[in-house]
Amino acid sequence: MRFFRNRFVAVQPTITSIELQQLASGDRLALQVYKFVGAQPGKKAYVQANLHGCEIVGNAAIFDAIEYLGTLDAADLCGEIWLVPTCNPPATNQRGHFFSTGRYNPYDGRDWNRIFWDYTAEAKDLPDFARDRLDCDPDAIRGEFVDRIRTACDRAHGRIGSHSSLPYRERYRYRLQSLCLDANYLIDLHASSNRGREYLYCFQSREASAPDFLIDCGVLMPTYDGFAFDEAFMKPWLALEAAFADLGRTLQFDVEAWTLELGAGSTIAPASRALGTRGILNYLARKGMLALPDLPLPAAELPDVRFFTREQIRHYHAPVGGMAVDRLDLGTIVRAGDLLYRLQCFDRDGNLPHMHDVRAEADGLVFDIAVNQSANQGDYVLSILEDESK
Ligand SMILES: [Zn+2]
Repeated sequence: MRFFRNRFVAVQPTITSIELQQLASGDRLALQVYKFVGAQPGKKAYVQANLHGCEIVGNAAIFDAIEYLGTLDAADLCGEIWLVPTCNPPATNQRGHFFSTGRYNPYDGRDWNRIFWDYTAEAKDLPDFARDRLDCDPDAIRGEFVDRIRTACDRAHGRIGSHSSLPYRERYRYRLQSLCLDANYLIDLHASSNRGREYLYCFQSREASAPDFLIDCGVLMPTYDGFAFDEAFMKPWLALEAAFADLGRTLQFDVEAWTLELGAGSTIAPASRALGTRGILNYLARKGMLALPDLPLPAAELPDVRFFTREQIRHYHAPVGGMAVDRLDLGTIVRAGDLLYRLQCFDRDGNLPHMHDVRAEADGLVFDIAVNQSANQGDYVLSILEDESK
C-alpha cells in the first residue's frame, strides 16, 4: 500500500546537530536529530532514547528504525518522524568503574526524568481558552494550543542567552522539549536499571493504542506530577480535553505520549531491541504515517495488554544485610508465602553464617531483579507485579 504512487525516491533523513553544552575544556555536547520527512505533509512523531544513562537498548532500536526508514520510498511516509538516540549525553557517558548509572544528575541528585517543564503549572486560563473555542475545529484548536505552549516555554527559558543564564538542567530540558512541543506522538524509550521485563506507561483515554507497541503489559497513569518527559508533554492536552469536557464538548486530540520500558539496563538484548523497533513501526503504521507491506498487524495478532497501576508493583528491599541468592527468575509466577530469595548473612556476632528467607507477601509475578546481589539492609532486591485482586 502506498499513499500515492510515483517514481521511487528514497527517504533520506535530514540530520541536525543541536548544541547542548560547552564544557570547561572547550568541548561541546550536542543532540543529533534524524528527521525523516515524507512526500506528503502530515503528523509528527518524536522518538528519543537513553534519557537515563544505562538504558541503552532504545538507541539500538532507533538505529534499526533509521536503517529501515532509509529504505522506504518517500511516498510511503506521511508527515515527519524525528528520532533522537543518546538524548542525554552526560547520562550516557557517566561511569562508575565499568558501570554507567546515569539516572541522576550528579550536580543536584535529581532524576533526569523529573526535570521537565510543565505548561499546566502556569496555564490558568484553560477554561477560558476552551470556552472561546467551543465550536472550533479540533485541528485549529490544536495549532493554537501548540503556539501557546511554545510561547510559554520560550518565555520560561528566556534567560538562557542572558548574562545570568540558566542552570544546565533547565538549558537541557528546554533544548529537548523544544524539539517535540508540536508532535502528535511522543515515544520515550527507557529500560530497567536492572533486569526487567518489557512494559509501557499509558495515559488514561489512550489505552486503545497501547497494543500497537506489541508489548503485553502497561502501567496506567491516573495521577502523575508532570515532571517526567511524557507527562510534561501530555498533561496540557489532557487538561485541555478536561476543560472542554467540563463545557460539555467531548474532544480527544490526536496527541499521545508513551514511555516504553524495553527490558534490561546496561545491555542490548536482541529481543528487546527488535520489539522496540517493530513496536514503533507498527504504531506509526497504525497512525497512518507509514505505509508498509506487513504493518500494522491485524488486531488478532496484537497482544492483549494487561494494565496495572504503579501500586501493584511491590518492591522488595532487603530486610537484613547479606548476599541475595536463589532468587526466582524474571517472569516466575508466585503465590503468597512462596520463597522469593534468600540472604546469606554474616552477622558480626561470633556465630556461623546463616540464611534469611524472604517470601512473597502476595500473588503475582517476578517483574524486575537487581543486577547487584550484594544487599545492604534496605537495598532493592526485586519487584513483584501483584495480581489485581490483591
Ligand atoms: Zn528510565
